[in-house]
Amino acid sequence: MNEAPQPIRILIHGASGRMGQALLRLAEERDDIVVVAAVSRSQPAQRVVEGVAHFAVSELAGAPEFDAAIDFSLPEGFDAILQLCAERGAALVSGTTGLEVAQRDAMAAASTRIPLLWAANFSLGVAVLSELVERAAAALPGWDCDIVESHHVHKKDAPSGTALALGASAEQGGAQPRYQSLRAGDIVGEHFVQFTTLGERIELNHRATNRDIFARGALHAAVRLARRAPGSYRLRDLLS
Ligand code: NAD
Repeated sequence: MNEAPQPIRILIHGASGRMGQALLRLAEERDDIVVVAAVSRSQPAQRVVEGVAHFAVSELAGAPEFDAAIDFSLPEGFDAILQLCAERGAALVSGTTGLEVAQRDAMAAASTRIPLLWAANFSLGVAVLSELVERAAAALPGWDCDIVESHHVHKKDAPSGTALALGASAEQGGAQPRYQSLRAGDIVGEHFVQFTTLGERIELNHRATNRDIFARGALHAAVRLARRAPGSYRLRDLLS
């Protein structure tokens, strides 16, 4: 008789944040995951989960062994978790936005040693929107392309990582996107892509109403990624 596979050991980086809290809560519902460490700038994380060891950022090196880290922190915290994963040979799933070019280069270098996935957005809806934007851009040469993103007032980077990723898809299709950002209230995330020419207009819109969609996507990706060979993966590689 086959034994059930061991659960994947996860370290959550940015555990006290909005995404970190969703990750901790949703990980408890899965039997293929065990959270072995929760790391945040201020220790302990607001939500202390029974059996989960909480660490401050300064204690990162003392974290127990883990198979994959899930990072939803800030750019200033990213280098340390990338380095720890590379040293430990552990997978890294990151959704942290606003990374510098040097941090992206460091990620590419580390992907020769560990399995790595960075995604600006972990929702299935945005993955589909991205494909639609590329197709629309390719089919509508010469049309104006505008991307308007709205987020809660605490979001620091602008345009959002998702807006830039959608813009990259539009550029793939030959468009030259322009960006606008709104910061208001508690908006989880909205991305509006508009193609306009004289006398007509196409509007594509995605609204995230609950950040659990991102957390579920990241947990799913971490389970899949932890068993992979070193390399740089895309979300769609792991969804299939
Ligand atoms: P938040 O401000 O609520 O939480 C940030 C977390 O990072 C906190 O736990 C904080 O302690 C930790 N942190 C801050 N500085 C740190 C440092 N130097 N070292 C280690 N940890 C540090 O933010 P949030 O809304 O949870 O979002 C976190 C990140 O995830 C942002 O970059 C956001 O844009 C991104 N995000 C991505 C997706 C996606 O699908 N890719 C979805 C939502 C949010």
